[in-house]
Amino acid sequence: MPVWYENPIKKTEEIAPGVRRFWLENPGITFAPGQFITLDLPIGDKRLQRWRSYSIANSPSDGGDLELCIVRSAAGDGTRYLFETATEGTVLRWKGPDGAFTLPTDLEKKDLVLICTGTGIAPFRSMIREVKNRALPFKSIHLIFGCRTEPDILYRAEMEALAQEMPDFRYDIALSRQSDGPGYQGYVHQIYQQQYSTPRPDVKFMLCGWSQMIDQAVAHLLVDMGFAREQLMYELYG
Ligand SMILES: Cc1cc2nc3c(=O)[nH]c(=O)nc-3n(C[C@H](O)[C@H](O)[C@H](O)COP(=O)(O)OP(=O)(O)OC[C@H]3O[C@@H](n4cnc5c(N)ncnc54)[C@H](O)[C@@H]3O)c2cc1C
Repeated sequence: MPVWYENPIKKTEEIAPGVRRFWLENPGITFAPGQFITLDLPIGDKRLQRWRSYSIANSPSDGGDLELCIVRSAAGDGTRYLFETATEGTVLRWKGPDGAFTLPTDLEKKDLVLICTGTGIAPFRSMIREVKNRALPFKSIHLIFGCRTEPDILYRAEMEALAQEMPDFRYDIALSRQSDGPGYQGYVHQIYQQQYSTPRPDVKFMLCGWSQMIDQAVAHLLVDMGFAREQLMYELYG
């Protein structure tokens, strides 16, 4: 039986239009960078109607509260509750951490390519912060982040600063609905298609986000580009 915790939201902050950071009091759990927790929200009678999972967006070595980064879904009951009813001080019931989508242990041997859209950056931020905070040795890490327009870019200043501080950490942005912004115009796919066009065994791809992006990336990497199934991991948000 899972342990259920009840802890207050300590703070919330809008990070981009329709996207909010939530800090949940940590009762003392530890977790692996990339894992998620599951909230049991008061939005239905059946437990599966009430459960919503969220990646932990900060790293275990940050200590303190658990940070979540959540996008408001147009018609979803879960995010309606979190954005319209819950406030600082609201106690959430939750379980976790869970999940095997975690920071690889062979960082020194592989080029790690982290591909995400929107709040799919959350587990990757946890991983990158862990590498930085603990000065973990790594070969290279490449974060490829996609969103629609410049105001939607999440944790931009932080990722740019990390890219300055860590020469083997690269950060690319793709904007799908703005032609004059930073980085690439279009979808995330063009970036890894260009930069990893020759299949090789010493690269690992981790993908996080919603099914449309993940399905396309998996098809590109495995079918079109010829990478092996074991070189790919993904966390599907829905
Ligand atoms: C392991 C895991 C970790 C997750 N981590 C995060 C996270 O860190 N941050 C986060 O924002 N979400 C995360 N999610 C998604 C989250 O659990 C909810 O599904 C999401 O918040 C929508 O809940 P809802 O009740 O508002 O909408 P629902 O009623 O559950 O969803 C309505 C429909 O819209 C789809 N949908 C919802 N939002 C989007 C979107 N932005 N883009 C495309 N389709 C969408 C859903 O798949 C569903 O079909 C995670 C999901 C999983 C399984």
